[in-house]
Formats: sequence, structure tokens, C-alpha cells
Amino acid sequence: MNILSPIDYSQLLKDEVQFFYVITKKNVLFEWKKIDSEKDYKIMVDLIKTNTYTNQCFRFNNGIIKILSVLKKDIVYAIGVNCEIQSQLIESFLDLLIERFLETYDLDVLFTFDVVDPKIFNHFNSELEVLFHEFNHLELVKSVNVSCDVCKKPFILIIKKKIIKNSDIYPVPIVINHGDHSIICYIDQNFRSRGTRKVTFG
Ligand SMILES: [Zn+2]
Repeated sequence: MNILSPIDYSQLLKDEVQFFYVITKKNVLFEWKKIDSEKDYKIMVDLIKTNTYTNQCFRFNNGIIKILSVLKKDIVYAIGVNCEIQSQLIESFLDLLIERFLETYDLDVLFTFDVVDPKIFNHFNSELEVLFHEFNHLELVKSVNVSCDVCKKPFILIIKKKIIKNSDIYPVPIVINHGDHSIICYIDQNFRSRGTRKVTFG
């Protein structure tokens, strides 16, 4: 049995997350961008807005950046990451950011005012730095050693713990892209791989 060396999720997220936006139909309420990033992601805001308000959630991957965004109570929460990072790690971090943002700000009360000054959300910059650090301790994700039955290469699958814990069936099927192929990974209730199958899209 292979023994996984523990992944430092906090460091991985700190290295790979490029931006986090909280957006309304009118404006950007909160914007965090990686300090050493030269890129201007404002052009992405329109793309995120248009797609998320239409579809409730939006996934985008152009081979450089991966975006994940969700609509909650008419507000869009969007995260952008380098595209190599696994989706469930990002989903889990986005869930955490949304939860903490909503704990920090009572948006129902704030939006009873005609004008909301985005400056009041500036404090969330320091909160976000804390969340990067906290992520490891929260143990929201788990790494599973998987061997791909298509290309025979072993890899580490990062999965949200609650997906396995809240499942009605075991093993839980999880579809991922692996190189030039897509596979279903079957994960049991003990977070062990029970094999993979090739996915063929019709
Ligand atoms: Zn493979």
C-alpha cells in the first residue's frame, strides 16, 4: 500500500488562487487578487456575471485559468485559480469563503440601505489570508491514492469529505479529466479507491 505524504493544502491554495470576487448586478463588492499577479481580471468579471446570473453556477477553463462561480441570493461569488489545481479543493475553499463572508457581513441588513460602500468589505482581505492558513486545520478535504485504469498512472485525487460522508451510495463515483481522457473514480466510505472506469461521452 502506498503511503501518501500529506499535502499542504493551505500552501497550495496560497500559491494557486489568483482572485476572489463578490459581485452584484451593479458592481464588485469585494475583490482580492494575488499580490504578485500582473494580470487584470476585470475583463473576467463580465464573463462571470453574464454566465452565473444565467446558469446559477459557472465553470470555465481556458487552459491557463480555471474559474468557479456560484449565485447565492442574487450575489455572485467567484474564484479563479491556476488550471492545474483540482476542482474539489477549489470548491471546498470557495464554500469556506462564502460561509465566512456571510458570517462576517449581514447582507440582508446591508442591502436595506440604498448605497453600500464596498469599502466596508475591505476587512475581508485579512480574513482571507487567515482562511488560507486555516484551511489545513479544518480538514474539509482528503487525498486519495488512485491508479488510473486507462493510462495506468497513479495520481492523488483530492475530494471534499462531505461528498463521501453525505453519500447515499458507496462507492461514490467521481468524474475527472486525467490527461487526454476522462475517468470515473469509485471512492468508498473509508476514502479508498475501488477502481476507475473510462468515461465515453455520447
Ligand atoms: Zn489516466
